[in-house]
Order: sequence, then C-alpha cells, then structure tokens
Amino acid sequence: MKQKLFKRIICLFMALCVCAAAVPSRAFASQLDKAQSNLDQKNQEIKNQQSQVNETKNQSSALQAEINSMERQIYSKNVELNRLNKEINKTKEEITEVLAQIEVKEAEIAEQNSALSARLRAMYKNGSGGLLTVLFGSSSMSSFMTNMDMVQRIYSADADMLAGMQAQYDELEGSRKRLQALKETLLTQQANAEAKRVQLETDIVGLSEKKREVDKSLAEQQDQLKQLKAEADALTATIRKLQGDKSYAGGTMLWPSAASRYISSPFGNRVLFGVKEFHTGIDIAAAAGTNILAANSGTVIKAGYNNSYGYMIMIDHGGGIVTLYAHSSKLLVSTGDVVARGQVIALIGSTGRSTGPHLHFEVRVNGAYQNPLNYVSR
Ligand SMILES: [Zn+2]
Repeated sequence: MKQKLFKRIICLFMALCVCAAAVPSRAFASQLDKAQSNLDQKNQEIKNQQSQVNETKNQSSALQAEINSMERQIYSKNVELNRLNKEINKTKEEITEVLAQIEVKEAEIAEQNSALSARLRAMYKNGSGGLLTVLFGSSSMSSFMTNMDMVQRIYSADADMLAGMQAQYDELEGSRKRLQALKETLLTQQANAEAKRVQLETDIVGLSEKKREVDKSLAEQQDQLKQLKAEADALTATIRKLQGDKSYAGGTMLWPSAASRYISSPFGNRVLFGVKEFHTGIDIAAAAGTNILAANSGTVIKAGYNNSYGYMIMIDHGGGIVTLYAHSSKLLVSTGDVVARGQVIALIGSTGRSTGPHLHFEVRVNGAYQNPLNYVSR
C-alpha cells in the first residue's frame, strides 16, 4: 500500500517535472517569437527607410548636377561677357580713331576747297597777274595754247585732289557707320548675356535652397535609419540573449524536402514580377502535400500564418541559428514544440506570396539571412 502511494507520488512528481519543463519552453518560445516578429518588422522598416534614403540621395545628386551645370553656364557667360566687353572697348577706340581721321580729312578738304577757290578767284581776277590776263596777254596763238593747257592742268590737278579727298572722306564715314552698327550689335549681345547670367544666378539660388532642404530631410531620414538599425541591433541582442544558453544542435542540416531536390529559385538578388529584390532563402519546387522535414532538431518558435510566407514554421536550433519553412499547405507542429531532425513538420503548399507549390527555406544566424546551401547537404 505504502509502495503504491510512493509510486503515485513519483508519477505525479514526474508529470509535474514534464509540465515544469514544458511551461518555460513555451514561454521562451513565445518571447523569441515576439522578438523575432519585431525584428522582421524592424528589418522591413529599415528596408523601406533605406529606399527612401536612396531616393532622397538621388534627388540631392540630381540637384547638385543641375547646380554644377548652371555654374558651368555662368562661367561661360562670364567668359562671353569679358570677350564682349573687350570687343566693345576695341570698337569704341576704333570709332574714336576714325572720328579723329574724319576730322583731319574734313580740315584737309576745307583747306583744299579754299585753295581751289583762291586759285579760281585768281584765274578770273582782272589786271596783271590774273590767269586770264596771262591767257589773253599771250603774244601768239601758240603761246595762248600753251598757257591754256597750263591753266587746265592746274585746275584739273586741284579738282582731282579734291575728289580724292572726298573719296577718302566717304570711306572713313563708311567705316564709322560700320563700327557704330557693330557697337550696337555688341551692346545688344552684352545685354542678352547679362540678362541670361542674372537669370542663371537667380535660378542657382533657388536650386541651392531646394538642395539644402533635400539635404536636411536626407540627414533626418538617415538619423531615423540609424535609430531603426539600433533598434534592430537591440532586438538581435535580445534574441541572442534568449538563445544564449543554448548551443547549436550540431552537424550539417538535413535537406528539408522529402520529395524534391530541385531549386527553382536560388538565394540572393533576383528579379520577380519585374522588380529587383533580395531572395532571402532558396525555393525548392515540390509536389503539393509532400513532406517538409525539420533540417535539424530544435524548438518551434513560430508556427502560423504570414501574408508573405503563408503558413510557415520557424525552428530555433540554438547558437543563434534559426530555419524557416514557408508557403506550406498544412502545419503539423505548434509554437513551443520540440522537434527532432528529419521530423515531418508541415506539408508543401502554395500559400502566401507564391506562384506554385514549393518550399521557401531560410537559414538565419542571429537574425541575418544566410545562403542555406552553406548549411544543408543537398
Ligand atoms: Zn522563396
């Protein structure tokens, strides 16, 4: 009787022990699950923040490129303005010079005119010394002809000289008009270049202001990103602490599909639905309903539904190593369960973000995605 009672006490004690062992395990698993979910969410936020930071960086660089281009345009406008100033000054000098030449020529013409008038007056002057007197005082026909010829020569030379001077004057006046027109053109070009430079300088002020604002929000976004990363690090530290006293289950992991060894999509960068993305695991295409195996022994820290992963399982193998099995049609274990290596934990399906029956298999070390092929034997 006493022995029977003792046996009962032992049994009860053992049952209590199992319960006692199971309760902390479930509590631990749910804590880990929560930390892991928070970390997943934080990683998503980091991803979004990072793309926002990249977008703002692109905006800032585009503005900088525009500012640089405007600075180059302002520089070339200044070069153009310098050239125009020089040309305008040169033209003004040339105009001054031509005006001086015109003045000289005018004086020469006036002088020549008065010389000619004086000679003409002399020619028609009566009395001794006048040319007519010389002509009509000729002693013979032959001396008259000689004198006539002489008078004509004098007059013709004077008239030729005057005509030559007039031609030179006309040429100078032509030059003056051309130079004046050139000066007007250059002044117009100068005004246009100056207006353009003023416009560019106004625009560059506006753009610089815009860039300062973009850079300010970039700095804020980067601070937020830093903050999110710090929070993710804290969550990773929490997860590590929760897992801390457990070391890795050991050994190379088992291939997680019983039916297929075909990888339909590898780990790493890929293009899906025309969008570049990072594939966080490997996809193993297999018939719907076939077995998904635990890659190693461990504790189920999550067994549930997720919009992307569909029905999914996460197993903690100790040492910070976690495996994830997604898109399942049916889950066969629950959060907190201790599973053995090779145990059937779920069935292949196409739930969540999936295009056909397959197993999306991930390996995470301290929350960071790893290439599963470095951990499993295929
Ligand atoms: Zn996948």
